[in-house]
Amino acid sequence: MSTETIESAEGLFADTKNGPRLLGSRCVTCDTPYFPRSAGCHNPNCDLSKMEDAEFGPKGKIWSLSIQNYPPPPPVVIIDPFEPFAVGMVDLVEGLRVLGRIVSDTPDKVDVGDEVELVLAPLGVDATGAEVISWQFRPI
Ligand SMILES: [Zn+2]
Repeated sequence: MSTETIESAEGLFADTKNGPRLLGSRCVTCDTPYFPRSAGCHNPNCDLSKMEDAEFGPKGKIWSLSIQNYPPPPPVVIIDPFEPFAVGMVDLVEGLRVLGRIVSDTPDKVDVGDEVELVLAPLGVDATGAEVISWQFRPI
């Protein structure tokens, strides 16, 4: 079995010296956050689009939630054997709403309003045998 570990997508997240963070951008003029990074500001009320890189996380709160009760088809990577998992829309304290899997042994106990933190965790193993890591959220 391969021990290779790969990221689900390049440049979207990193394990920084402060812990896991999503990599996005923020408009210096109007403070609007973007994830993934944006080359320009899309706020119609913003007078001057001036972007800088920004890191987001780790704290957030579940805004909406669903349970994945059946294995999604490839290329979605899942842990084998399949176990139902929660997927949540999470409001980060920085003002972003981000979709992510919820890491929990009891997904049916996870609820809207729960506080979560960003983690980098395996989604499963892809067709090449590599372990795929991505951002997820863990209840705290
Ligand atoms: Zn702006």
